[in-house]
Amino acid sequence: MKVCKFGGSSLANATQLSKVMDIVLADPARRIVVVSAPGKRHSGDTKVTDLLIDLANVALKGENTDRQFGAVVERYAEIADELKLGGEIVREIEMDLMDRIAKVSTLDPAEFMDLMKASGEDNNAKLVAVAFGVRGRKARYASPKDTGMVLTGPFGDATLDPSSYATLSRAFSNFDGIVIYPGFFGYTKEGKVATFPRGGSDITGSILAAAVCADVYENFTDVDSVYPVDPRIVPEVSEGIPTMTYREMRELAYAGFGVFADEAVIPAVRARIPINIRNTNHPNEPGTMIQQSRRVVPGTVVGIASADDFCNIVVEKYLMNREVGFGRRLLQVLEDEGISYEHMPSGVDSQCIVVKGKVLPKEKERKVVQAIQRELKPDFVAVERDITIIMVVGEGMCYTPGMLAKACLALASAGISMSMVNQGSSEVSFMLAIRRQDRDTAVRALYKAFFG
Ligand code: ASP
Repeated sequence: MKVCKFGGSSLANATQLSKVMDIVLADPARRIVVVSAPGKRHSGDTKVTDLLIDLANVALKGENTDRQFGAVVERYAEIADELKLGGEIVREIEMDLMDRIAKVSTLDPAEFMDLMKASGEDNNAKLVAVAFGVRGRKARYASPKDTGMVLTGPFGDATLDPSSYATLSRAFSNFDGIVIYPGFFGYTKEGKVATFPRGGSDITGSILAAAVCADVYENFTDVDSVYPVDPRIVPEVSEGIPTMTYREMRELAYAGFGVFADEAVIPAVRARIPINIRNTNHPNEPGTMIQQSRRVVPGTVVGIASADDFCNIVVEKYLMNREVGFGRRLLQVLEDEGISYEHMPSGVDSQCIVVKGKVLPKEKERKVVQAIQRELKPDFVAVERDITIIMVVGEGMCYTPGMLAKACLALASAGISMSMVNQGSSEVSFMLAIRRQDRDTAVRALYKAFFG
């Protein structure tokens, strides 16, 4: 059995939805179909989820919601009209939205917001099920409530209650035929609607794939495959990545590869379900397969990713290596400020702590520097900002001499100086830190060195 998830761009209009139905019907193994809310039809358009957030905000202010309400309904009506689904489903969606809006005065604002946001996926799943029916193929809508998708944690940032796997698995064993399942939300134990973070339909798909032990989790989007480098930086990149391992995906996603939010696929990864990223617009392309292991050519790299806005806290103290507890006390300062760190490269008398810029705003920086001075009495402490990190990733780098040398040479030839280098013992990646203004030149130089 395959679980397929279709993102907002794959469901933005009637043409896209027809492609989705073709894809599902082309393979009888595609039994569980997870859908997002309709996305952007063109650049400049607004996703239904964003329209719903607008609508919810206006309702929360107690203002007239007619215009925002109309904008949401219009998106579904357009699809229903073009696919000749009949007026019933649009009326059902209107009624559902009105019921939700009417709850504004009885719910906490965060809970109300989630109730509204979740309607995007929920109503779209119902509409997609009707569309299959009109195509002459029965598909049933399945509700996260009835199937036991139980979530915990804050509204808008909920996570799955692990007990749900057993319930979901049982619920799906009773289904035959095609099931259309709304992504992005579930219910708390108290029966309240709660959503995952934005982009959370990927998480729903991953959870269902794990719950039913699917043969593959197909994630349909609008690119043919994952590219080894960001095409906005290296436009000439043409060949996608055919296969990569979970570890490679994790490292690349960490440094900003926009394939998946790195946490989205954890359920599928833990259950060792292969993930296939595919293009709704080119369904014959095999896409990128992400799996536990792959055939690796020694000395090769799978991808180069870069992420901006890192900070480096530099601490220097002569003989710090002899001071028992130095590292612990340094990290304690960060812990006291609720800051998590990313990397910790060190020298003999220096210790760097790399953190994301967003967790160290200026006022926190001052507090952290003062606390380090007080607790550790260093010779020098400073915070460098605007650092970009580049991750060079590939299982093929393990036990291969010269990979880092090749990268250093490429950067040296491009006249770029690195401020840090970090490689974990897994050897599946190494990290290079450079200045933000050197990013594009550095990525191009590395791409040429490893793929050119
Ligand atoms: N519709 C939601 C969003 O725009 C969830 C998703 O598409 O995955 O974030």
